[in-house]
Amino acid sequence: MQFIETRGNDQGRAKSVSFSEAILNPSASFGGLYVPESLPDMGEAFLTQHLQSSYKALALDFLTQFGIDIEREVLEVALSRYDNFDDANNPVPVVEIEEECFVSELYHGPTRAFKDMALQPFGSILSHVAQSREENYLIMAATSGDTGPATLETFKNQANIKVACLYPDGGTSDVQKLQMVTEEASNLKVIGVDGNFDDTQHTLKSLLASDSFKSELKERGIKLTAANSVNFGRIIFQIIYHIHSYLELLRQDRITMGEKIYLVVPSGNFGNALGAYYAKKAGLPIEKILIASNVNNILTEWIMTGAYDLTNKELILTESPAMDILKSSNIERIMYDKFGVNRTKELMESLEREGRYQLTTTELASLQEDFVANFSTDTECEAVIAQYAKKGYIMDPHTATCMKAYKELRQKPLPTVIYSTAEWTKFSSTVAKALGHEVSGDIEALEWVSKESNLPVPAMVKGLFDKPLIHTVVVDKASIKEEMLSFL
Ligand SMILES: *Cc1c(COP(=O)(O)O)cnc(C)c1O
Repeated sequence: MQFIETRGNDQGRAKSVSFSEAILNPSASFGGLYVPESLPDMGEAFLTQHLQSSYKALALDFLTQFGIDIEREVLEVALSRYDNFDDANNPVPVVEIEEECFVSELYHGPTRAFKDMALQPFGSILSHVAQSREENYLIMAATSGDTGPATLETFKNQANIKVACLYPDGGTSDVQKLQMVTEEASNLKVIGVDGNFDDTQHTLKSLLASDSFKSELKERGIKLTAANSVNFGRIIFQIIYHIHSYLELLRQDRITMGEKIYLVVPSGNFGNALGAYYAKKAGLPIEKILIASNVNNILTEWIMTGAYDLTNKELILTESPAMDILKSSNIERIMYDKFGVNRTKELMESLEREGRYQLTTTELASLQEDFVANFSTDTECEAVIAQYAKKGYIMDPHTATCMKAYKELRQKPLPTVIYSTAEWTKFSSTVAKALGHEVSGDIEALEWVSKESNLPVPAMVKGLFDKPLIHTVVVDKASIKEEMLSFL
């Protein structure tokens, strides 16, 4: 399987690249992204074959069908990361919370958010590829909370990879911050930035654009790569759990083979939803993909009106911070798939030049064959959390955005899978507030919710509060380069 570019080829790069090339150098010509030339068939024959498969066996066969240039043994090592999830035999439980409504819990990994699903095996593969080429890579990430911990966790002590993670000091939850600053490994660096997430991202961008920084990296023989969801190495692992959801409903006798289901995806950068789209395209019987967002509702607007317009929008901080996003990278891959390379380039250039674009009526109709969307306010999410807590199910604020989409967007009474992208323990202060108890920090919230709802706090979360703080550096923008170079 080769990978091609969403905005066409600039004659400088190869016209198509292997999987390992695409994950080491994820940015394609003209600022585009890499996409697979085709998808393997995951229709009824594939599903029937995997009715009894474990998650790892399903994943291994899927990756084999994909035909990527990674040896089987390397894939097996990567997939063995799922053995460290809560239940090695079932890393992604799918539970029914009410008639026809199932929750796929994607958060049972080491950092308690769904980023682990892809980053865990991806980190193992990327490090292996870097080692076999005898190359050294630096991954730099600016995080508002979930990406940082999951990136650090997957690459810790992995050879040939260094990770530097910038976070806004005071801009994350206590648990998220502790997950980063207590992470101990000599190839990891965590730096607090004096400012908000915008300042943090800006600091990272200006560093990456700095010629002197680039030449310093070159001198040290270090190449840059990215581990966010523009990297197809993450997307490939995000197709698998959608197939797993369908197989689980079959195993639980809640559907028959071929019966269609809805998926509800709480979305930001659209990696999770893109995985669902690829699964549908490859033959998984999905009626429609329901997209849920918070008040940063640019995806709702895009899907319901065909307008993508940044000019009248400002980022709003919400209680579901992993979805506080205005520029959603992965919708480019959807547009490439539906509208082709020339139109994708045109639309993305219009976005960069004018801050907006508008799809045609035909294009919008095509988009709506697969997607429908709405969004929830923080108040609505808190009400959802309280309502389901009464029924005995505790969900985090990102998952809570799904319930309005589930209630309002389904046109047929079909079984539905909702994706839960974080454990409540990561956003315990918001959950406590939703249940009517204001707290002064996560430690108090964890104890209160745990007692109130009779739920355990997992050891890796509880233990964070007793671990020594390793990364105590908080810098202003001006000192970031020096700090980075001393780490390298
Ligand atoms: C990253 C994240 C999301 C958004 O997922 P995308 O694939 O970027 O759309 C939603 N919820 C949580 C908790 C996340 O960490």
